[in-house]
Amino acid sequence: MYNFLAIAYFQNQFLPFAEAKISIATHALHYGTGAFGGLRGILDPQEAKQILLFRLDRHCQRLSDSAKFLHYNLPAEKIEEIIIEFVKRNKPTKSFYIRPFVYTSDLGILPRLHNIEKDFFVYGLELGDYLSPEGVSCRFSSWYRQEDRSLPLRGKISAAYITSSLAKTEAVESGFDEAILMNSQGKVSEASGMNIFIVRNGQIFTPASDQDILEGITRDTILTIAKDLGIKTVERSIDKSELLIADEVFLSGTAAKIVPVTRIESYKLPENRPITEKLTEKLIAITENRESNYRDWVYPISII
Ligand code: PMP
Repeated sequence: MYNFLAIAYFQNQFLPFAEAKISIATHALHYGTGAFGGLRGILDPQEAKQILLFRLDRHCQRLSDSAKFLHYNLPAEKIEEIIIEFVKRNKPTKSFYIRPFVYTSDLGILPRLHNIEKDFFVYGLELGDYLSPEGVSCRFSSWYRQEDRSLPLRGKISAAYITSSLAKTEAVESGFDEAILMNSQGKVSEASGMNIFIVRNGQIFTPASDQDILEGITRDTILTIAKDLGIKTVERSIDKSELLIADEVFLSGTAAKIVPVTRIESYKLPENRPITEKLTEKLIAITENRESNYRDWVYPISII
């Protein structure tokens, strides 16, 4: 079903993807004590034999921060170095997704993070659109986003994704494409693996970082682009009722990019989405390195 890139990084070396295997006794598999990143690589539309990675430094920093929660010191620079080498060795010929992962690699039981071996691996796969760019229908999940006092939500911790998985499956099995999760305060938090934005009266609003969200890199990118385009952005808590009467609602994430929400349960949203469209167009141009003001965000890797 998936096309994996031929070479993976595992246990401090590059090797064929098929040989990178873990034991059924791996600690992280049992306790969710892993953390991951996810970034897209695209073929440079302007330059043959060149791959572009978007905001590589931010992705590596977030994974390094996630590793801190696992009591694992993995500097962002080291992750960056390995990802660059990973891309050079694979020489991808199609757009792809990179999944770097840190985890407790010990064989043995008892949940803990001290006195336990950790490892870091990287693999990649070809990935098209994660959700339809035409738009998605959403339902409010009966599952709530976790609270930061129970789980470090500024990391992409594997264990957190049980809630995302429950919410996504509940949404799909009840006839929707995606789930919107509220936080324990009853405010809007995010979708199953994406941040959420609304547009009202020409301004964009998104839940602030204290609303139990993952601090998405696409979210940060959108806030910056919107400001540069002269669109007012506000980060604050968002009520359920605001979503239902919004002029536009969209979701954001590395895999999904920007996806408009067409309907929330029985509330149909307007079909005219000027701000979502403007931001989408700009985001795509920036990731393809067609916008000179944002070249700092695009990391080119030659694969000759
Ligand atoms: N929230 C969650 C729970 C996610 O898994 C993701 C995807 N990494 C996002 C938001 C969006 O983050 P980013 O824009 O950094 O991909």
